Amino acid sequence: MSVPITPDNLTVPRKAVAGKPSLIGLGRDAMREALIAMGTPEKQAKMRVGQIWHWLYFKGVTDFGLMTSLSKAYRAELAEIFTLERPEIVTKQISKDGTRKYLLRIAGGHEVEVVYIPEKNRGTLCVSSQVGCTLTCPFCHTGTQKLVRNLTAGEIVGQILVARDDLNEWDNTPFDKRKLSNIVLMGMGEPLYNLDNVRDAMKIAMDPEGISISRRRITLSTSGVVPEIARAGEEIGCMLAISFHATTDEVRDTLVPINKRWNIEALLEGLRSYPRLSNSERITFEYVMLKGVNDSDEDAHRLVKLIDGIPAKINLIPFNPWPGSPYERSEWKRIEAFGDIVNAAGYASPVRRPRGEDIMAACGQLKSETERGRKSRKQIAEEAGL
Ligand code: SAH
Ligand code: SF4
Repeated sequence: MSVPITPDNLTVPRKAVAGKPSLIGLGRDAMREALIAMGTPEKQAKMRVGQIWHWLYFKGVTDFGLMTSLSKAYRAELAEIFTLERPEIVTKQISKDGTRKYLLRIAGGHEVEVVYIPEKNRGTLCVSSQVGCTLTCPFCHTGTQKLVRNLTAGEIVGQILVARDDLNEWDNTPFDKRKLSNIVLMGMGEPLYNLDNVRDAMKIAMDPEGISISRRRITLSTSGVVPEIARAGEEIGCMLAISFHATTDEVRDTLVPINKRWNIEALLEGLRSYPRLSNSERITFEYVMLKGVNDSDEDAHRLVKLIDGIPAKINLIPFNPWPGSPYERSEWKRIEAFGDIVNAAGYASPVRRPRGEDIMAACGQLKSETERGRKSRKQIAEEAGL
């Protein structure tokens, strides 16, 4: 059955484009049901799911024909009914620091960006959850692109599959040798406005018989959709990062407009009751350093006062500019001074080193290529004489 796309249902129906539903993105139970619906005997269905799962998420095959533990006839039947389509890589750019940015095309011809960041002891994939964003944080490039649609679970997990294809990381890479060891939901979009699909995709990513990335190596970043925060903790159990960015409601109303709906007090109250709050699973507070806007000593003092009692670390993010962006990055000395105050109050305050700046892959610089040419809000405002 095809589902109409309405503003309340922004996820494109599975069958809409390819004509066939994809097996990628179905959880184990949903896959079992799909196999039974196609005629697989109920008694065999669980075993078949196990076999197919292994091929899809452990071996990374893209063709039913390669699933040699299944009979030829069964493989043909599967291929008749389902696809294994992944998002298609349109362009791949590699930064001089090794960061890779992929522009992926998904059903409907839409595009999303995914970034792979290699580090010494780990490799992090920055995954997108939406095409564009409903929110309009004025320092964020994605925020200038209005929401086109939510990604399906298959498209979210598909970003991991595509990256593992490109990194040639299938089969049995021992975990300590993995190039892709961590996931951050910090790409395009607000993951808590697409929580069901994000959850289904992360459950697949965490499954020990497949991609097998532990929940502690997955971080979901939210601008503060307070009513969904606890559910993310309960249903995914991953690490949580909050885009805090300001220490008064007045400034946060501007920088993170969702603050007008759930203000600093409501957000902190929500976090204090976060089900996974503990010293071993601290919440990360992300704080973008904007020159003259939120980077004073007073801000630093207010910040530590506000979060008092919450096991936290504070991640200082030097602002990453993009064409037409209306802010400037704080001076390094200012960032250090801010960090010192936070540190003295007992919080770790690592400064996030900008990665992939030369290919516009750093935090907050993502935007679909087709949208890039469009004017920024600042340009539009200037041209209108505002
Ligand atoms: N929508 C989610 C996740 C995506 S943004 C959220 O807002 O949390 C990931 C992080 O990058 C957020 O903390 C966001 O505020 C930050 N960010 C956005 N634009 C940025 C920019 N231009 N420079 C630095 N960080 C930015
Ligand atoms: Fe959306 Fe996050 Fe960018 Fe704000 S910072 S516009 S919530 S992607």
